Amino acid sequence: MKAAVLYDYNHPLKVESLSLNAPGPGEVLVKIHSTGVCHSDWHVIKGDWPHVPLPTVLGHETSGVIEDIGSGVKTVQVGDHVILTWKPGCGRCEMCQLGHISVCDEVPSVKSLPVSSESGSVVNQLVGLGGFATHTVVPEWAAVSVDRDVPFPQKALVGCAVTTGVGSVINTAKVQQGSTVSVFGCGGVGLSCIQGAKIAGADKIIAVDIKENKLDMAIEFGATHTVNSQNVDPVEKIRELSDGLGTHYSFEAIGVVEKTLVQSVECTRKKGVTVWVGAPPVGLDVTLDSRSLVFEKSILGSYIGSARPHIDFPKMLKLYKNGMLKLDEMLSQSHPIEDINLAFDAMKRGEVARSVITFE
Ligand SMILES: [Zn+2]
Ligand SMILES: [Zn+2]
Repeated sequence: MKAAVLYDYNHPLKVESLSLNAPGPGEVLVKIHSTGVCHSDWHVIKGDWPHVPLPTVLGHETSGVIEDIGSGVKTVQVGDHVILTWKPGCGRCEMCQLGHISVCDEVPSVKSLPVSSESGSVVNQLVGLGGFATHTVVPEWAAVSVDRDVPFPQKALVGCAVTTGVGSVINTAKVQQGSTVSVFGCGGVGLSCIQGAKIAGADKIIAVDIKENKLDMAIEFGATHTVNSQNVDPVEKIRELSDGLGTHYSFEAIGVVEKTLVQSVECTRKKGVTVWVGAPPVGLDVTLDSRSLVFEKSILGSYIGSARPHIDFPKMLKLYKNGMLKLDEMLSQSHPIEDINLAFDAMKRGEVARSVITFE
């Protein structure tokens, strides 16, 4: 198989050939079709998450087809179209038993990892998936069988960004109809928060970003108002746009600096709910005024949109097919794996809602 491997932090990914074993008991071989380029992969490249072992095949927003199954596999068959999930839920831990699959203790892992044909080193798969590759072997429970009549790149987006954003609104915050919502950051996840707010029936959806092209996209995805935080204080502007009170809900879909995390709390009204959706680097401290929450406000974390993938992935595809969830519009560029480093450059420049790597 061919894969893009990260050997050192802050270095380009190396596209090379790896050898892969046949799937073992309970494992499946997936021929990958599309994998989205996510900020989380970029965090790993930058060394923000030093707990990720190297070398590793990045990529975790992936769709493909089951090409082979190991012994004992029951829930998927050869030929199934699947979306891979890095939080399938083990079914046994306390969180799974309570229905909180997204915070299960386990990540998918396989018995034997791919090996580089060139260097001979064993190569890890990010969050057990390793989606920037022509193939991967994953446990059966990480492959969610889905409809064939949605294109693969659209399906891939459901594996991370879309479910993270829409899920944070619908599953984590449970946004109420007619409420006001602010969203900080209009990348793939933020745009999905905006879409989630629209699906939930929010009355006002205020999008905040520093790039005008992103704010234009926000309108296309359902924002009713936009705020360029480079020109104005977003907290003041959000209050002004929400009867001087602040919004009922606020979503922070950046997770890079302290400032926007604090603003996402300051801009809500009494009883307001702030959800931190972005995945921050290790060690990013946030200082809040101790009275920030005094009027019964709350801050919630949301991890992959509090999703239960075997329920939520098919649900997202239904919303897409019913015309309620825009996925085509989210796909800005597609690249062959050889151009993967260019895809990360475009993401860094803030040019795209989402790029995908596609394999024929
Ligand atoms: Zn992601
Ligand atoms: Zn579990």
